[in-house]
Parts: sequence; C-alpha cells; structure tokens
Amino acid sequence: MFLGKTIMVVLDGLRYDVAISEMGYLNHLVEHSKSALYKVKSELPSLSRPLYEVLLTGTPSSINGITANKIVRLSNQTSIFHLCRKEGLTTAAAAYYWVSELYNSAPFNVFKDRLQHDVEKPIQHGAFYFEDTYPDSHVFADAEHLRKTYDPDFLYIHSMNIDDVGHKYTSNSKEYRGQANAADSLLAQLLPTWMAEGYEILITSDHGMNEDGHHGGTGSGERDVALFAIGESFRTPSNKEGIFPQIGIAPLVCRLLGLHPTEAMNQIPLPGFVKNNQLE
Ligand SMILES: [Zn+2]
Repeated sequence: MFLGKTIMVVLDGLRYDVAISEMGYLNHLVEHSKSALYKVKSELPSLSRPLYEVLLTGTPSSINGITANKIVRLSNQTSIFHLCRKEGLTTAAAAYYWVSELYNSAPFNVFKDRLQHDVEKPIQHGAFYFEDTYPDSHVFADAEHLRKTYDPDFLYIHSMNIDDVGHKYTSNSKEYRGQANAADSLLAQLLPTWMAEGYEILITSDHGMNEDGHHGGTGSGERDVALFAIGESFRTPSNKEGIFPQIGIAPLVCRLLGLHPTEAMNQIPLPGFVKNNQLE
C-alpha cells in the first residue's frame, strides 16, 4: 500500500525560535497554508547521534543503546531504511557519515564509504560527508543528484553547517542566524520542484543549540525544534502552540510511505494529518 514518495530534511542543530525568525521561505509557505508547522520537543540526550537514531527508528536511547555520540556501531533497531527495503522501496541519503555508521557500515572508511551504491544495503544510494564544514549547498546538490538519478521513494537529507557554526559562535550570533538563513535559501530553490512533483516533505532538526554554543542538556533552546510538513497528507493551519514529541516522527514517516511502523515505535497522532482524505 505504497502512499507517497517522501523527502525528510534534517537541519542539524537548528533551534525552534531561529527556524521561525530566519527561515523566511519556509514561513512564507506556512503563511500561505502550503506547509504545516509544529514545535517538536527532542528526546534526550539532545545530541546528534542519539537523535539520528530517534528520528530514524522511533526508539529512545534507553531502548536503542545509542546513548552518546561516541557509540560507533550499527543500529540494532529496525529503521525506516530497513522497512523501506523490506517492502521493495528505493532509499537514498545525503548525510553526515554517522548516518552511514548507524545503518550501512561501521566504522566509516573515508576513502571507501563516501559514495555508496549497493541495493542490498538499507541505504541503497548514499553520499556521505565527514567534515562538519562540508557546505550545506553541496549536501543539497548531492541529494538532488541522488533524487534525479535514482528516483528514491525515501530520500533523507541531513546538513551540518548550522550546528557547526552554532558551536563556534553560539546560538545568539549573526553567524548562526545567517547559516539558518542560508539553508532557507537552499530550500527555497529546491522545494518548488519537489512540491510540484508531489512529494511528502518533512523538514526538521535533531536538536537545537544554546547561548553557550552547546547542546546535550534539557534547555528549551537545545530541545525545541521545528517540523515543517508539506504535502497532501498535511492539512493547515497547524498546531504551533502544541508540542509534538520527536519520538513520533519515525512512525509518521512510515505512514507517509505506506509502511507499517515497527512494534517498537509509538504512534502519536499528529494534529492535521490526513489519511485517505480523512482528517485523523
Ligand atoms: Zn552539535
């Protein structure tokens, strides 16, 4: 029961308030009822590798065991990539190398694993970068190449520059805000095409960033991120006031793709989500 091709964008380290103040194009789509907008509370710890696992398997650290950035091994959970492969759907990712380590192979070999094409792997087509300063523009160009060449049913795009600049200059800096602005401009160049081609599109972040240039704790700057949801499955206006738990994103992606969520995933109703033309 395949439903819709889905693109999931994760802008690493982008906190909610800066997503609202700096993402002019995305918020334009919200103002014109072409995107739903939710506030998402990240799982803990508010760290990258644990939250990649949350976003892609729908399980918390206490279950999946990815409790720190330094835990380098394949995931022992069933990810969205695995579920896609089981149903014969095509997968692709342009992402930081930790995503390859979680789902394709660990540890990452920079000379062997940067570009991967293996239809037997959970991520069949991958362009993985391994420097935090690898330009976001190149990540999106890599992703667009994968989309046009391999026509994936599930495309995962994950950029790092916002997080990198946040660590260097803190969340309260012109550099951090400027990097969010630059990511918005990249999305403004690609989203019109993706929307015209009928994709379901989710744009979110793993975690935010605080005024010290850190994340990992429980502060709202570190935990609160945006979820922009675009496509036939989302009815606006959305729920800007309520908080959607991050653990609910993976099963939501499953439903967009027509996949049965795993037993380990908690299905959490998303306000305004539409299935078979019925508002749930
Ligand atoms: Zn970080």
